[in-house]
Order: sequence, then C-alpha cells, then structure tokens
Amino acid sequence: MRFIDTHTHFYSSEFDEDRDEAVLRAKESGVQYVLLPNVDVHSISRIKKMVEQYPDFALPMIGIHPTEMTPEDIDDQLAAVEAELASDYPYIAIGEIGLDMHWDDKALPTQIKACRKQFDLAIKYDLPVSIHCREAFEPFFSIMKDYKSTSLRGVIHSFTGTEEELVHLIDDYPQFMIALNGVVTFKKAHLVSLLPLIPLDRLVIETDAPYLAPVPKRGKRNESAFLLHTLEYIAANMDITPSELAQRTNSNAQAMFDIDDFLSRK
Ligand SMILES: [Zn+2]
Repeated sequence: MRFIDTHTHFYSSEFDEDRDEAVLRAKESGVQYVLLPNVDVHSISRIKKMVEQYPDFALPMIGIHPTEMTPEDIDDQLAAVEAELASDYPYIAIGEIGLDMHWDDKALPTQIKACRKQFDLAIKYDLPVSIHCREAFEPFFSIMKDYKSTSLRGVIHSFTGTEEELVHLIDDYPQFMIALNGVVTFKKAHLVSLLPLIPLDRLVIETDAPYLAPVPKRGKRNESAFLLHTLEYIAANMDITPSELAQRTNSNAQAMFDIDDFLSRK
C-alpha cells in the first residue's frame, strides 16, 4: 500500500537529528512522496536541501505562512517568493498560504494582502495552492469569491472548520480538495462526524509533521510514517479498506499536484 503525505514540515529542525531514519520509516510504512510547504524566507534553503537529498521523494512548495509575516517584512518576503517562482527551480505548489486569526486578528489585513498576492502568483504560474485557514473562514471565503471564475485550485490543508464551511467548500469550490490529518483521530474532534460529507474524489491526507500526531502517537513529535494511523482511522470511519482509501487519495493528490509529471520534468 502506497500513499502520499501532502503536507509535512519534514525539513524543519525537529528532524535534524534523525531525518534519514525518519525518511526510511516513512517509506517503510508506505509513504511514496512528501510535499513540503514553505513557511517564510528562511525555510526556503532548508526545503531545497531536503529536496536535494531526496529528489524522488520530497517535493517543494513556495509561499509565506500567514503567521510568519509582519506588515514590515511582507513585501520583501513576497518579493522572495516571486523571485523563486521566476527562477528555474521547480516548485510543485504555492504554500502554505492563507489566513490565521487564532493568535492575532490585528494581523488580518496583512494576511489578506499576502493571500491575494499569492493567489495571483498561483494563477500566473499555473500551480495549485496549499491553504492554511484557521478560525478565519469568513474572510477567507470573501477572498475566494473573487477567484471563483479563475483557474485557482488547491487543497484546504488541515481542515478543521464547521459542517457549514465544509459543505460550502465542497459545493461551491469544486476545484478544491479537503486535506485531513491526525486531528481527525482526536477524541474531541468533530471531524469524524463530517467524513460522510466528503466525496472520495475530494479528499487527500497529510501529517503536518512535526505537529498534530494522530492517535495513538498523540503528543509525540509527528512524522510522515504516522500517516498510516490517520489513513486507517479515516478508512474505518468511511467504511472502506485502507488500501482503497490510499488509492483514492493518491489519485486525488496526483490529479491536484501532477506529481508524476512534475518529476518527469525535473
Ligand atoms: Zn503546515
């Protein structure tokens, strides 16, 4: 059984001590590819280093995370993203980008400006986006409305919204998929009850490692090998076999990110 971790910070310092071993564990558990979302200007070189070490396994994204920007540095950070996209270096997606009102809602105007700018870049470079949207679906949907008739496409990473927000995404944004991670396995999470609402051609899976380790690894450092637990949990609650879910989510990830084509062009 093979599957794809569509969102992992495998390049981060949490893996500096044992990255080789963690990659081996991931491959042995069935992980075929890992997609690496960028967070700020400093993580770009970390991502490139990991991609150089595992060129057929680790696939790079470029983008600025909503909590990793300030009104003062956002223009420079976005200029760096644009320069990367204009270079010969191949990126598979723009991410992670979006809105986050969990920590600081005064930051919202800066986040909105950066989100729109990066949506425009995704359209210009014909790349999918990996969206981070935390406690911010209202302003997020008002941006999305303006992009409805464009080619913008992507994944709502670590979806933790309400039933209403999920249905809105599924019904009104057919070019977007829902990505679930270890949060779905948490006892208190409402997400498991939403699983029947997600069509099997709109679902992908991820770890968001090193964060959000699934049960039974909850509280530990998360890693891509643990994706198997999330896959098995979702499959059991959707009444399909893990290998069927792996197949469906793989073909969704392939359709969204064009992974085989990306690797053949490198
Ligand atoms: Zn992330």
